[in-house]
Amino acid sequence: MKKKMKGVIFHGIGDISLEDLDVPVIQHASDAIVKITLTTICGSDLHLIHGQTVVDPESPIGHECVGVIEEVGKDVTTFKPGDRVVVPTFTYCGNCFYCKKGSPSQCEKGGILGFGSIRGGLGGAQTEYVRIPFADMSLVKTPDSLTDEDVLFVGDILSTAYFALENVPIHPGDTVAIVGPGPVGLCVQELAPVFGAGKIIMIGTREFRLEMARKRGAIAINPKEEDAPARVQELTGEYGADVVVECVGTPEAFQISFDSVRKGGAVSLMGMWGEPVSVPLNDMVMNNITIFTGLVNCHRIQEIVDLIECGRISANHLLTHRMKLDDILEGYRIFENKEDNVLKIAITP
Ligand SMILES: [Zn+2]
Ligand SMILES: [Zn+2]
Repeated sequence: MKKKMKGVIFHGIGDISLEDLDVPVIQHASDAIVKITLTTICGSDLHLIHGQTVVDPESPIGHECVGVIEEVGKDVTTFKPGDRVVVPTFTYCGNCFYCKKGSPSQCEKGGILGFGSIRGGLGGAQTEYVRIPFADMSLVKTPDSLTDEDVLFVGDILSTAYFALENVPIHPGDTVAIVGPGPVGLCVQELAPVFGAGKIIMIGTREFRLEMARKRGAIAINPKEEDAPARVQELTGEYGADVVVECVGTPEAFQISFDSVRKGGAVSLMGMWGEPVSVPLNDMVMNNITIFTGLVNCHRIQEIVDLIECGRISANHLLTHRMKLDDILEGYRIFENKEDNVLKIAITP
């Protein structure tokens, strides 16, 4: 009889449940089976549940976790059972057309955890065990000096923040404005100084999140209380921010981003867009604005782990709640409604 585990299944729009699932087994020589020791819920899970990201019904979900190697395929050379590992949201082969072109998130052989058959048909992360293809390429060891909580956000939201900053021109002393002080926006704030940011401005409407940003050194602006782009101009000698990172995915946030960037600056769009947005392309051309967007390439995990290990960045302040996997549906309810000043929930299988 197959071994069973608990895991979250997406049945259809607005419908998820915790089910008994088969424990995954090695399918290819480059696979590893990871026993998950800590997992969490991401804003992308909500987009998926609301139908803004297309995932086939009856798919396991969740894509942000850390764990311990349970078993490896015969070609895996970097890891052995018992090794603690950081799991990336996107797994990649390193060898296909897209990987060789430097776009591993579009890998033809890997996939995204918990995103159904259109993205590789992999298992989810909100469960007890997960099969990771191309383990040598995809996984990174967790240093002994770091806890699971220290590295829980490396494979997804910290990778996204790194990706947002790595792909726009940014120079020492630049002003970086972030629209959306949610978990991704706060990760961008954490990494921006590593990329050379001087002044960091956080724009958002939830006071608890703005307060978190202030505590970590940002100047906070609430667009409900003042004209955010005008305040950004005022803070930058009437020019605008050198770089704006958008982490919301609404037309309003998009507009604030474009109105806050200086001529010749860059806007990094990391929000997930539930609806089409009209883009002022001619204004961008006339003002030399660079736009960057895309699905995160999870190939900077080692660098991010190193930054945490040497104390340059930390994301532990995002952890506001802790609970057991058995209670994850309650966790989803809290996370969805942003109850109790929730930012991120550490969930233990
Ligand atoms: Zn995510
Ligand atoms: Zn590939």
